[in-house]
Amino acid sequence: MKFATKAIHAGQHPDPATGAVMTPIYQTSTYAQAAPGDHKGYEYSRTHNPTRDALQRNIAALENGKFGFCFASGMAATDTLLRLLKPGDEIISTNDLYGGTYRLFTKVYEHWGIKSNFINLSTGQDLASHISAKTKLIWVETPTNPMMQIIDIQKVVKIARQNNIWVVVDNTFATPYLQNPLDLGADIVVHSATKYLAGHSDVVMGAVVVNEERLAEQIAFLQNSAGAVPGPQDCFLALRGLKTLPIRMKQHCENASFIAQHLASHAKVDQVYWPGLPTHANHSVAASQMNDFGGMLSFTLKDDQIQTTFEVLKRFKYFILAESLGGVESLCGHPASMTHASIPKQERLKAGLKDSLIRLSVGIEDKEDLLDDIMQALG
Ligand SMILES: *Cc1c(COP(=O)(O)O)cnc(C)c1O
Repeated sequence: MKFATKAIHAGQHPDPATGAVMTPIYQTSTYAQAAPGDHKGYEYSRTHNPTRDALQRNIAALENGKFGFCFASGMAATDTLLRLLKPGDEIISTNDLYGGTYRLFTKVYEHWGIKSNFINLSTGQDLASHISAKTKLIWVETPTNPMMQIIDIQKVVKIARQNNIWVVVDNTFATPYLQNPLDLGADIVVHSATKYLAGHSDVVMGAVVVNEERLAEQIAFLQNSAGAVPGPQDCFLALRGLKTLPIRMKQHCENASFIAQHLASHAKVDQVYWPGLPTHANHSVAASQMNDFGGMLSFTLKDDQIQTTFEVLKRFKYFILAESLGGVESLCGHPASMTHASIPKQERLKAGLKDSLIRLSVGIEDKEDLLDDIMQALG
């Protein structure tokens, strides 16, 4: 089965009870047993729910993985994965990381004796020198948020394998339509399904996909024990959204490409960060590990004052000023004061995240309308 067919059919079949073509919302917490232990595979919805099962199978299939797990949010998925570690273990991650992930690593898990090191993984240079006997996990986000650095997954995997370290890839920005980390050797893929997977800004959800059975058993155990599972209605919405993932992503990429090229030649714009531009520092890695370059882009203004930046953001009409990304509608954001406010300013600047950086989640509206909006906002 190819990708678009999987998006619509994988993990789903007409409902055996009624023939319903769409997987029903099994809004139930529990299931009747004929005799103690005599049931149809379902006992309690924290452990298994048919709507969630269909979604988990679908996301696993899209990521070319064997086992999928869904969670109440992307952060709940991340939190569950961190429970694979023990006090004394260490994590290496990128210095340009989703703010909520950075917060969980530093403000929550450091208290429990799990230390994180943040380095620039996109240069591919000093990873080996940061690895110690304590390193258990390398946490990769690519493209990174919001600087759109690209990390060479295969390169990271090669170094990790030599040291018996798990590689996790947060594939939220790329989606399985653009990039399949498990095929590149990663052990675990994690998603904020809130974004492109569900795709309509109407649900908060996380997902994890793995291939290795032992790892899957551990994650299933944690999913059931800690219990951060999504409800069946949200699973239905995500399943529905996934059916159009391929055509949405195609349009997101096309629109972002159009906008990135126009921004790159605009007099008021300093830098444009979109991995599809040949001038992007990691363009060739992106071209080799991704099928296209995605719908997320960031840019800075020549006038780096926060006030000027706020004025531009206020003038946007179609681009809604809001957190989040990956929905059909275009959004704009100011990472320094919004998504990345929990990262100290010195840390932010080290990653190049200036005050004038504007992040766009380019939606699937008509690209000419989007460009007009950006032009009038820039003034
Ligand atoms: C949004 C996001 C998360 C967190 O997911 P939630 O669903 O908001 O909990 C993690 N990683 C990335 C890259 C994100 O964009």
